[in-house]
Amino acid sequence: ASFLDLERLTLAYGDTPAVKDLDLSIGRGELVALLGPSGCGKTTTMRSIAGLLKPRSGKIRLDGVDITRVPANKRAVGLVFQSYALFPHLSVFENVAFGLRLKKIPKPELEKRVETGLKSVGLSKFASRKPAELSGGQQQRVALARSMVMEPKVLLLDEPLSNLDARLRLEMRTELQRVQKESGITMIFVTHDQGEALALADRIVVMLDGRIEQIGTPEEIYNAP
Ligand code: ADP
Ligand code: ADP
Repeated sequence: ASFLDLERLTLAYGDTPAVKDLDLSIGRGELVALLGPSGCGKTTTMRSIAGLLKPRSGKIRLDGVDITRVPANKRAVGLVFQSYALFPHLSVFENVAFGLRLKKIPKPELEKRVETGLKSVGLSKFASRKPAELSGGQQQRVALARSMVMEPKVLLLDEPLSNLDARLRLEMRTELQRVQKESGITMIFVTHDQGEALALADRIVVMLDGRIEQIGTPEEIYNAP
């Protein structure tokens, strides 16, 4: 078994399956891209890993535990949304601290985790700013730090760079890769941008019509016929 295993996973909203008999194994510390056209099942797959959608059949195993029926808030799976969803009235520090406060993490540890989180995304100096006083790329980094301080076993990122302009998107590719490697957190991100997947991921999962069409390293995918 790998760190994260999806086994014969079938996912559906109504009668027609959106994802069919999916088998996927992901190693600890990997950065994996789910790549494919709109409607191929990327978001649906992520939702099931996050515990937001119950599988029709199949299993999800994480770090040796069957989490198929474990509720979303007990899975140690983090989710970073496309739209960051930062709280506009809270400072950067409080945005990052939000989940830790809900978990009643004691103040000294909370402060340490928030400071470490902000440092890892290069935003230590911006702790007291409001989100509106940051660039899009900086806001995206706050969202990343907010999820990382919860110390998830897996972090899922839904089109993490799609809201950024072209220049920032390139800059954030490098940044995301650096943060992922330094933190060692296993991450899966959704994209429909092949260049992004090739540039960022350790491994690319190409999906088509609810199935895995191709899987491999960027080199393997790039050189495939
Ligand atoms: P994405 O860009 O991530 O693929 P979409 O724009 O396809 O997202 O979907 C946005 C929202 O609409 C999601 O919450 C998704 O669950 C919902 N949605 C997508 N397709 C359908 C559908 N056929 N019927 C109902 N809701 C849908
Ligand atoms: P992707 O993220 O790759 O764009 P999705 O996982 O959002 O694809 O969608 C996979 C399939 O499931 C699509 O056919 C989509 O229309 C359908 N779908 C997604 N969300 C819903 C929903 N909430 N209700 C019904 N169908 C949905």
